[in-house]
Amino acid sequence: MRLIFMGPPGAGKGTQAAAVCDRYGIPAISTGDIFRANVSAGTPLGIEAQTYMNAGDYVPDEVTNAMVRDRLSQQDCRRGFLLDGYPRTLEQVKELDEMLAELDVQLNGAIVLDTDADELLKRLLERARTEGRADDTEDVIRRRQELYAEQTAPLLAEYDARGLLASVNGIGRVDHVTDRVHTAIARLTR
Ligand code: AMP
Repeated sequence: MRLIFMGPPGAGKGTQAAAVCDRYGIPAISTGDIFRANVSAGTPLGIEAQTYMNAGDYVPDEVTNAMVRDRLSQQDCRRGFLLDGYPRTLEQVKELDEMLAELDVQLNGAIVLDTDADELLKRLLERARTEGRADDTEDVIRRRQELYAEQTAPLLAEYDARGLLASVNGIGRVDHVTDRVHTAIARLTR
């Protein structure tokens, strides 16, 4: 099983990715989590990524692509993987296509979690309260939403044109959304 999870910040990608990965026994690869772990550990990658992340900007494609390429080459990705938060730009889509071709594997699909703007802001402000992420302030959230609309939303049309996109209603109880995600995966892998 090889999946991409898409959706604006706060759509619930991380939560739903964990549920799907549990069921299929595949790793969830969250580029945001990998960057955050590197920031905490003070690695050169973390130091490079931190300024972009704190501003709500995307980390440059070359840096992000190299990190994902390395992660996908690891042993635990052989049986499949779920990419959470990657690709986010058309350049990353191209690069991911190359990585998959090199590994001689194909994507099963891209799941996009749909939510409305009010719900997203509510969730992000709640997350800011409970998790204290440096990039969950109102200004930075707005910047991340703008970037998603400008740079990442166009990817939906790309995967849709390939017949790989499934849109899932991300509003409501977490377990209800998970049921919808599983239904969408079943459709994509039929
Ligand atoms: P996330 O946890 O997915 O919201 O990601 C947090 C931050 O990490 C983003 O706002 C970006 O600064 C950076 N990031 C995560 N994934 C990517 C990506 N695919 N491309 C560029 N930057 C990324």
